[in-house]
Amino acid sequence: MQMSHVASKGLQRFLFGKFCQILTYKTEWYGKQLVLADRHYPSTQRCANCGHVKTGKDKITLQGNASHHTKHNEYVCYQCGYCNDRDQNAVLNLLALIQ
Ligand SMILES: [Zn+2]
Repeated sequence: MQMSHVASKGLQRFLFGKFCQILTYKTEWYGKQLVLADRHYPSTQRCANCGHVKTGKDKITLQGNASHHTKHNEYVCYQCGYCNDRDQNAVLNLLALIQ
């Protein structure tokens, strides 16, 4: 099935909305709290060690960071020198939201 860009984006939004609906239902069912990060929360750009948020040319993209010669899956803080896997750094930032 071939789909236009607009239709596929609409399908993606619908499925994510459905996923959030199921998560809400399940967390209420088990008496838990669902915490959703703001869509603009910089979990992959924020340092889990010092809180510095990368902006502009310092940001990590899917291709990494060309000016600092880092790969897309590694996080290096240019403020404090903290190094970690990009995904693990993002998880630590998301965990900081609930603490
Ligand atoms: Zn840092």
